[in-house]
Amino acid sequence: MIYLDNAATTAVLPEVWEKMKPFFTEDFANPASMYAPARKARAAMEESRRIIAGSLGAAPEEIFFTSGGSESDNWVLKAVSDKAQAEGKKHIITSAVEHPAILSTCRYLKQHGFEVTQLPVTEEGIVKPEVLEKSIRPDTCLVSVMTANNESGTIQPIKELCRIAKAHGALFHTDAVQAYGHIPVNVKDWDVDFLSASGHKFHGPKGVGFLYIRKGIPVGPLIHGGSQERNRRAGTSNVPGIVGMGEAARIAMRDMEKNIAKETALRDELVSRVREEIPFVRVTGTMNPRLPGNSHFCFRFVESETILILLDQRGICASGGSACATGAEEISHVLTAMHVDPEYAHGALRLTLSEQTTEEEIDTTVEALKEIIAKLRSMSPAFKEWQGQQSR
Ligand SMILES: *Cc1c(COP(=O)(O)O)cnc(C)c1O
Repeated sequence: MIYLDNAATTAVLPEVWEKMKPFFTEDFANPASMYAPARKARAAMEESRRIIAGSLGAAPEEIFFTSGGSESDNWVLKAVSDKAQAEGKKHIITSAVEHPAILSTCRYLKQHGFEVTQLPVTEEGIVKPEVLEKSIRPDTCLVSVMTANNESGTIQPIKELCRIAKAHGALFHTDAVQAYGHIPVNVKDWDVDFLSASGHKFHGPKGVGFLYIRKGIPVGPLIHGGSQERNRRAGTSNVPGIVGMGEAARIAMRDMEKNIAKETALRDELVSRVREEIPFVRVTGTMNPRLPGNSHFCFRFVESETILILLDQRGICASGGSACATGAEEISHVLTAMHVDPEYAHGALRLTLSEQTTEEEIDTTVEALKEIIAKLRSMSPAFKEWQGQQSR
């Protein structure tokens, strides 16, 4: 198997799994209990909180464990809007390229009386700070813009966007699920109020994530119940998950510089080979600033889904965009927002690398793609018609 879908999820590292194992079997105690085994589980959980806080420039008490990116995103949007509604601030700003965890929650809030502005992006996929400046209003309670996009890999100018939000009295959230563990992320440097991340996107386990909430910001719970997470998030703590995510964070920080260099070099080789060796292809989004492991292509005269099926037959795992949108045949909202020519957008292909990806895998993938695209085009009526027009 060649796995090139690391934006959808990543493999749990062996060290992470080893660290998690005892917390399923011997050290299974509920960390909220009082006896010694519970204290051990609690200590391991708090160690994860310290590692994660340290990696972000935050304090441990600003980190709240959740079930993942979707929950963290829902929590911020719903809790902030609950409070803002009472103060008469009923305007939220986000971007047109956010993950469904943000966009669907915004749709829900619209049904509850909020007005939502979706900032457009450039053809390169970037949210321009001056566009935010023009859209922000005195009644804007929250601006939420993702750190890096899950389809195009484009990295947004979070520090500038956050500065504008603050200058107008709005809170700022960033969905850093694609970025955290892959590129430097610092809440103090950026001055953000909230940040979401998810364990399974950086070699931790699925079903665990966190939300950074700046100290002093009153945020009520999304999940009501027990007093876990200092009364902000009820439910018996997912100790193995939290321990695994902490270990994954530690390793990600330790290896970040090395991983960025390796993935960028391999990714750049992949992009230049596809550009040179396959005709009628466009690379989606800016190459800089972009997540190191992300490549995204749009091929003319082919359908995304058929490319994926033929790649799968050769044991290559890839995506047409986001894992959350598969099955839907329409063009993704991200490509639409970037004004990608529909003739190209139907042939979208996202290949996302990890530090485990090898040069040989990239080579095999390029060779497979060359054959697959040529074969599909040879069967495409649109391609034949185009060829006919050229020879006339
Ligand atoms: C994967 C992803 C999410 C959802 O995270 P889960 O932990 O799977 O709920 C949210 N936002 C972005 C940008 C993502 O890539």
